[in-house]
Amino acid sequence: MILTTDQLSKVYRSGEHALTVLDQVSIQVPASATAAIVGPSGSGKTTLLGLCAGLDRASSGEVVLDGQKLSTMNEDERAGLRARSVGFIFQNFQLMPTLTALENVLVPGEIQGRPCSHTIRRAEELLGRVGLDKRIHHYPSQLSGGEQQRVAIARAFIHQPKILFADEPTGNLDEEASELVENMLFELNRESGTALVLVTHDLELARKASITFHLKGGKRIDSNQAPKHRDV
Ligand code: ADP
Ligand code: MG
Repeated sequence: MILTTDQLSKVYRSGEHALTVLDQVSIQVPASATAAIVGPSGSGKTTLLGLCAGLDRASSGEVVLDGQKLSTMNEDERAGLRARSVGFIFQNFQLMPTLTALENVLVPGEIQGRPCSHTIRRAEELLGRVGLDKRIHHYPSQLSGGEQQRVAIARAFIHQPKILFADEPTGNLDEEASELVENMLFELNRESGTALVLVTHDLELARKASITFHLKGGKRIDSNQAPKHRDV
């Protein structure tokens, strides 16, 4: 398993009130698998993804990501694990507006200093791979939503992550751009073996994943179903 959660819960407290937004959720994602997290708005999907990626801390329960128990790690250790093993894609792309497409893709690598020529070549290849070879020096404002999300995909893959989390990656895109972005995510999964965990309320998209987790009111409402085969 690249990712396991065991009885994972998140409770927000304000004064005397406690709001349980994630209630003892256990999921398992095998290496190189594709998993969809589905459920109505407010059901805890983004919360679950944030906990799994080590962006947020659980109230109780455990996340084991790439063999490491997140509850035993401090902030620096979790940041290190994220940099080594994890990619993340958001609904609103989250590109840096003052950087070109190429520079955005290089951002994760620049934490360790100036990118070497090998990394720059890899960034250019990835941008070509997502169909943006003619747009590498464009700024986000000069790109369509779908193109911006493809830059975000290239950025997420620059470190060859073992697992990629995507929170409604097509939520802000029209149908045609959505399809391109979806296909790219699944293609890159097949080519690179990066496990894909994506949040969506698009059931059509969820069907493309080999595993589906259904959330409602912070709880998993499906049983521990066996992974079904992907229709190709
Ligand atoms: P989803 O992504 O499925 O729409 P979320 O995980 O974003 O759901 O939110 C689940 C619930 O947790 C919602 O009711 C939301 O209002 C609540 N919530 C999220 N973040 C916080 C927070 N920082 N403080 C209090 N409640 C929160
Ligand atoms: Mg959400």
